[in-house]
Amino acid sequence: MTYAAGRHFLQIPGPTNVPDVVLRAMSAATIDHRGPEFQELATRLLRDIKPVFGTTNPVVIYPATGTGAWEAALTNTLSPGDTVLAFETGHFATLWQEMARGLGLHVEFVPGDWRRGADPEVVADRLAADTAHRIKAVCVVHNETSTGVSSRIPEIRAAIDAAGHPALLLVDTISSLGSIDYRHDEWGVDVTVAGSQKGLMLPPGMSFNAISDKALDAAKTASLPKIFWDWGPMLTANERGFFPYTPNTNLMYGLREALRLLYDEGLENVFARHARHAAATRAAVRGWGLEVLCQDEREHSGALTAVLMPEGIDADKVRAIILDRFDLSLGAGLGKLAGKIFRIGHLGAFNDLTLAGTLAGVQMGLTLAGAPADPRGLQDALELLQND
Ligand SMILES: *Cc1c(COP(=O)(O)O)cnc(C)c1O
Repeated sequence: MTYAAGRHFLQIPGPTNVPDVVLRAMSAATIDHRGPEFQELATRLLRDIKPVFGTTNPVVIYPATGTGAWEAALTNTLSPGDTVLAFETGHFATLWQEMARGLGLHVEFVPGDWRRGADPEVVADRLAADTAHRIKAVCVVHNETSTGVSSRIPEIRAAIDAAGHPALLLVDTISSLGSIDYRHDEWGVDVTVAGSQKGLMLPPGMSFNAISDKALDAAKTASLPKIFWDWGPMLTANERGFFPYTPNTNLMYGLREALRLLYDEGLENVFARHARHAAATRAAVRGWGLEVLCQDEREHSGALTAVLMPEGIDADKVRAIILDRFDLSLGAGLGKLAGKIFRIGHLGAFNDLTLAGTLAGVQMGLTLAGAPADPRGLQDALELLQND
């Protein structure tokens, strides 16, 4: 590894760039997690985390990555043999339903082409057909990080309600929370799954469940095995500002600081900033003469943009050139999109000039790789940043 001057551009869609103030906050000494200082830290944090989820209900914090919080959402609300409805929107939706199967759930997995979100009409049809109410939960990934497509959660909620169906709504917001508008209470979500290392601008290793009253009720009879993930002991300990096991104290220092940044900027402004950067990125992609993977104008992700490569251009080779020449990391194509796309992360601690630098690096790399890269791409994006 040779020394690279200046800042590395970490423009993968998570982990994202951790702001210096957050890094500094995390460098404080680890304290007794059963002492009064910790109790005050946790009590405040468990309260202050709620607005970013748009909830007044409990949010639990796990010392685990997002995958753990997926497991917690399923095991606390469901029983062996229960049916869940899930949608093949991309790599992460596929992994979540594989986990559900592995846990002994029956999954109705609606096939998809990885270019659009979960279809509210299909939700309505599947639930209307399920007159016996065998489907116990609908699982949706809000922002499919593998494709740059966001599913329309309010419309999915409306479809569940229109069918008069009692299924729980479980939503993965691991790459949307803190970057794309999200409202756990208002949208009637039962369990919201989130993680630390994307919109929340923290290192990996912390994840969350926001829990509705209906989900708390379901937890009373849910019999899938769980010990570490069990909401019961967690919520009991949390009431006093403690945890049933050792929490990741230093990430909690970071979270306190990250929340302060988000609330100081204002969540509305944070969401608008991400939407604007996403629009500028799409302008660049189209200006280059390339295609954005997402095919539905209503579903473009504010957090990342997936760029489809033309036949004969290996997206991983383009990424390798860009990393080697410009010290810029882009997201790889995952699963069946491997080699076909690359992903530009524009979420978290990110501003106009970070985007300008990122897009300049991508444009130069595309040119070096022999891919379409009309310089109008960067120019169109800069004009949008300058004027909007
Ligand atoms: C990153 C991500 C995950 C996986 O989270 P880990 O923290 O890697 O366990 C799951 N779902 C989505 C949508 C993600 O973006």
